[in-house]
Amino acid sequence: MLDVRNIEAFYGETQALFGTSLTVGEGEVVALLGPNGAGKTTTIRSILGLTRARAGRISFGGSDITAWPTHRISGLGISWVPDDRRVFPTLTVARNLQIARRKTGFRSWELGEMFAIFSALEYLMPRECENLSGGEMQMVAISRALLASPGLVLFDEPSQGLAPKIVQDVLRTVRLLKSEGISSLIVEQNALAALEVSDRAYVMDHGRIVHEGPARQLLDDAQLRQSLIGM
Ligand code: ATP
Repeated sequence: MLDVRNIEAFYGETQALFGTSLTVGEGEVVALLGPNGAGKTTTIRSILGLTRARAGRISFGGSDITAWPTHRISGLGISWVPDDRRVFPTLTVARNLQIARRKTGFRSWELGEMFAIFSALEYLMPRECENLSGGEMQMVAISRALLASPGLVLFDEPSQGLAPKIVQDVLRTVRLLKSEGISSLIVEQNALAALEVSDRAYVMDHGRIVHEGPARQLLDDAQLRQSLIGM
């Protein structure tokens, strides 16, 4: 479904990605792990067209999206849950969710389904986003991503700074997406949590993929895990 082939990306003259390749299949959950500065966020930004890949090719559902503008890429069914949430702070939760709605070729979601996933969300609807806690903001960010009818959700550090209960809600959401045939790519510092819900994992270092394999392998092989991700 998503095929990232040998991409190179730069910030000014500084190269951040050196021929990064990865795939995410339909309904597959893939973890992208690695130390700070490895290039995980840059990979996500390149898929979204926010940091342009200068070389290589990115395709989604058979379309070559390498040079597409971001709005067209998201319109094709790629949603983003950014690490800094990026909700509109002065708008209410209801308004943030309303403007996220989009039609793609993929399953559309109803607000009621968001309330079933995040029980607190319904009561937050009239609140302005700037008054929300980090966990509440994450509920909005994830709901917004789903209301945009994705075929693939890119999660950047979804559990960062969240209470364990919300982390569980996030992981449950990833499982729910999978059961609906929707794919996820998860960048996460909390590698064990990400591996628990993932089918496959990639490990990046210095802008390169240094490992690819079943998530189970990294969960079961503590020595390999320690050598690759230091935990
Ligand atoms: P983290 O978990 O810390 O976000 P990461 O694996 O997501 O790490 P990236 O944020 O993709 O890594 O960073 C990859 C490289 O690109 C790093 O060397 C980083 O310093 C550099 N970089 C990232 N963003 C910028 C930017 N806006 N300007 C210049 N260099 C950047």
